[in-house]
Amino acid sequence: MDKFKEPIQVTKAFLPPVEEYIDLVKEIWERSWLTNNGPLHNELQEKIANYLHINNAILFTNGHLALDIAIKSLNLTGEVITTPFTFASTTHAIVMNGLEPVFCDINMEDFTIDVDKIEGLITEKTSAIIPVHVFGYPCNISEIEKIAKKHNLKVIYDAAHAFGVEVDGVGIGNFGDVSMFSLHATKVYNSIEGGVLAFNESELIKTFNTFKNFGITGLESVEQVGLNAKMNEFQAAMGLINLKHLDVQIENRKAVTETYREVLKDIPGISFLEDKVGIKHNYSYFPIIVDEKKSGISRNELYEKLKEYNIFTRKYFYPLISDFECYKGKYKDENLKNAKYISDRVLTLPIHGELPLEDVSKIAQIIKCIVE
Ligand SMILES: *Cc1c(COP(=O)(O)O)cnc(C)c1O
Repeated sequence: MDKFKEPIQVTKAFLPPVEEYIDLVKEIWERSWLTNNGPLHNELQEKIANYLHINNAILFTNGHLALDIAIKSLNLTGEVITTPFTFASTTHAIVMNGLEPVFCDINMEDFTIDVDKIEGLITEKTSAIIPVHVFGYPCNISEIEKIAKKHNLKVIYDAAHAFGVEVDGVGIGNFGDVSMFSLHATKVYNSIEGGVLAFNESELIKTFNTFKNFGITGLESVEQVGLNAKMNEFQAAMGLINLKHLDVQIENRKAVTETYREVLKDIPGISFLEDKVGIKHNYSYFPIIVDEKKSGISRNELYEKLKEYNIFTRKYFYPLISDFECYKGKYKDENLKNAKYISDRVLTLPIHGELPLEDVSKIAQIIKCIVE
């Protein structure tokens, strides 16, 4: 098969028709209100809470600082159980708060935290679990809740990949103490950069708002040590417009996913995640697992071969966080058998809401040709 003339990247940031953005930017010009709880920020905050079916949503300049502030606000101490199969941000947020990450393995069904291995990692120093709804697949929420209750632990979900996901009709942000969503350019839904903390406990509203604005609580009062993590009006404008386009984008991503599944389903040694009953998915990523024993080709070889066809995939997530230069050997990372297995074999294929289905079909056919 012929290579693609233009490179196909693993994702492409969604941009709305530029006129829609300019209209809102003109409003910002007229008001000269650029940041600090501007009207667009407040409107977006309300709309996101509605979209996520959650009592409270607070906006931040990015997802990482939102997670950082969630950790600070819940006063975590000692050890935090998390997984190494995620983006650097999750562990960095733990470590930069002076906490010790304890790496738990993932399960083979959807690559989220293996709930059967959590309790074995709990010590008297454990204060929280920070699981990840990786690739937008929900963790085993009910088991995590049981374990957290039994051992009196906080739960902060890294829901960076899971904007719009629902479990039996309930917005995914309703679980745990707090959930963090990322609105980064590369995510399903973006505000250029942006982050959201979603939660039901209204007492946290003031804490989060104070932390994100230098700890300032009044014209002449600063009650706590804080940082600057506010979302500005230009980000909020993009967020407001993109929210209107989101459902169509998710529908398009669904079609991309179904096209991949259709062509890839009979290729030996190539497997992928299916939709789960009761879950409203957001189709944020399309990971495949390459089993060399059956496919005759390794993940790394497939990755390189696809580049020759102008197809740029990602080894997402490889390496595991526990193997990063900055973490290797420093923290408990025993018994990560599944995480290592998946990390060595995973490849995420190109997916975004504007990827033509002919291209998707061709990418899948090329994989078929390469393997067979
Ligand atoms: C993107 C991402 C983050 C960080 O979000 P930003 O908005 O980029 O700061 C955290 N965790 C995971 C799993 C992510 O993919």
